[in-house]
Amino acid sequence: MVKPYVIIGTGAAGIAAAERLRLLKPEAPIQMMSVDEYSHSRCMLHKYLGGERDEKGLSFVDEDFFEKKNIMWGRGQAAKAIDPKEKRVIMENGYQPYEKLLIATGSVFGIPPIPNFRTAANVFGFRDLSDAQKMNKAIEELNAKHVFIVGSGLVGLDVAYALIERGIQVTIAEMADRVLPLQTDAVSARAYQELFEKAGAVFKLGIGASDSVVNEKNQITAVKLSNGEEIPCDFVVCAAGVRPNLSFLEGSGLAVERGIVVDECMRTSDPDIYAAGDVTALSGIWPNAMDQGRIAAANMCGQQQKYMDTFCIKNTINFFGLTMLSVGEVEPKEEGSQVYTRECRNAYQKVIVRDGMIKGVQFQGDISHTGFWQYLIKNQIDISGKLKEKSVFDLSYGDFYETDELGEYRYT
Ligand SMILES: Cc1cc2nc3c(=O)[nH]c(=O)nc-3n(C[C@H](O)[C@H](O)[C@H](O)COP(=O)(O)OP(=O)(O)OC[C@H]3O[C@@H](n4cnc5c(N)ncnc54)[C@H](O)[C@@H]3O)c2cc1C
Repeated sequence: MVKPYVIIGTGAAGIAAAERLRLLKPEAPIQMMSVDEYSHSRCMLHKYLGGERDEKGLSFVDEDFFEKKNIMWGRGQAAKAIDPKEKRVIMENGYQPYEKLLIATGSVFGIPPIPNFRTAANVFGFRDLSDAQKMNKAIEELNAKHVFIVGSGLVGLDVAYALIERGIQVTIAEMADRVLPLQTDAVSARAYQELFEKAGAVFKLGIGASDSVVNEKNQITAVKLSNGEEIPCDFVVCAAGVRPNLSFLEGSGLAVERGIVVDECMRTSDPDIYAAGDVTALSGIWPNAMDQGRIAAANMCGQQQKYMDTFCIKNTINFFGLTMLSVGEVEPKEEGSQVYTRECRNAYQKVIVRDGMIKGVQFQGDISHTGFWQYLIKNQIDISGKLKEKSVFDLSYGDFYETDELGEYRYT
């Protein structure tokens, strides 16, 4: 019997890989499995928590995706271990042999070691639909009016936004001195902070949670901050840090560091096993997970493709209608960098240049035409010559075109 291509995970990396596999191998058997009962986008979870969408509305594939692509899907089926010697995935009730295997199991949230946080009944993460469902239940059962959120990164602010939409008061503690510290500088962070504050959120910046108060039901009723303040709450959400979802790989013999170790082709230390997405710890964002999935799939089919994206921080953000693109460094990481900023009505732009190449951009308020900046930064185009002629903000695609001997336009 022909063994199938097996993919563990139906998130960004798993689905992108499955589509590419089907394209390259129209007849090959493909078997997917996931803990998720619904294949869903993590980026849209806040819409479910905010009451804007139901479970099905979080899907990023057509309802008949698996049927149409002739892909088998073990929904709600967890991989418990991998046996590379026998080339099979071990599940609760049996095992699944594979020809080639892709591990695309994403990441899991961490709970900081604050007293009671790891044992109390009302501390949640926000990683998948089941987390949002648990929070929904808590909101109902506890008639929640006030929630304490640890972390003001994208996930923390997604939770805050959704809860505010439901009329719940949120307090957000952030160890850094600004919100969204991975994507913003002081100016762009301030704009988001003000919008959240206008909607009723309270930020505690540069302050950590240090202790908590629990009731007889083992529920946290207040969080104590390192500055001595005590914030009452109905439940707590931890949105400060994720780690690759690796626990089921124990004993597999696969090389693991922070994530599963892969080469440029997304191949692990076992030649028949590939990994893609958050589980590799190479990045933590949706488009990169999809790229990695596609590249893994191509290599699983015998093609030679390499994953070369070195800019891990690449985010499009939108809170309260204020959009932003942030790619690469938000503050210069090395001396000798030139920092260009421009503020105009409701818009902020920042470009960091070093050695003639762009190392980071932030565009807030107006993100039209930003494909151009992504092109410059991703391909590390030397712009030093152009900067002698004009301001960095006046650069456009036209500056990087020239006509070749056939009279056709091409990039310089
Ligand atoms: C709340 C939130 C908001 C986000 N917002 C953004 C955003 O705005 N922009 C952005 O670029 N990124 C965002 N991200 C990050 C983005 O969602 C991830 O980078 C992306 O989902 C990673 O894709 P993945 O395929 O590696 O993992 P995931 O999409 O997490 O999928 C993991 C899959 O593995 C399955 N699985 C896990 N363990 C097992 C097991 N043992 N057996 C079987 N199946 C298993 C799961 O069921 C799931 O199907 C956000 C993440 C979160 C949590």
